[in-house]
Amino acid sequence: MRFDRLRLNGFKSFVDPAELVIREGLTGIVGPNGCGKSNLLEAIRWVMGESRPTAMRGAGMEDVIFAGTTRRPARAHAEVTLAVDNRRRLAPAGFNDADRLDITRRITRDGGSVYRINGREVRARDVQMLFADASSGAQSPALVRQGQIAELINARPAARRRILEEAAGIGGLYQRRHEAELK
Ligand code: ATP
Ligand code: MG
Repeated sequence: MRFDRLRLNGFKSFVDPAELVIREGLTGIVGPNGCGKSNLLEAIRWVMGESRPTAMRGAGMEDVIFAGTTRRPARAHAEVTLAVDNRRRLAPAGFNDADRLDITRRITRDGGSVYRINGREVRARDVQMLFADASSGAQSPALVRQGQIAELINARPAARRRILEEAAGIGGLYQRRHEAELK
């Protein structure tokens, strides 16, 4: 699945609505320290269903909401939409009737997260599975955090195996087996 566009509204430093067009080929994001480069990668991971606030460099998930500055008040919610090109029909059954999928996650300070796919409300798990099956996903090795290379070198074998499984495209199966074992 190809990521087409990323829309942010109230997410971290992106207080005003912003849209990034992701063209085919290599995209580079450059800018001075603190301008929001890592926040963009985190927005992608977040909309794919990341559930650990620490992965967003926060204490609680509501920390992704614009916290305010001396000049601008804090926001009450944050929303990120990832537009995915689905012309190759790689999305799972049930979501596979459209050429484009708009995956949206919205969080309010006291109401938690709501997910939508093309406007229809879905569970977090639906979004997580959609990306896990497509070998992307919030914890995909395709997303390399700042400092992660050093962590990888020092990783324990089980953690390394997880990375290989994800790369082999069986991340979704792994997650389903884990859920089956819990039942
Ligand atoms: P570097 O080059 O140092 O890696 P970067 O471009 O990756 O920098 P980010 O880490 O993405 O920068 O952005 C950090 C900025 O985002 C900081 O200025 C921080 O104050 C701001 N920020 C993070 N969370 C929030 C929030 N909830 N509300 C407002 N601003 C936030
Ligand atoms: Mg950074």
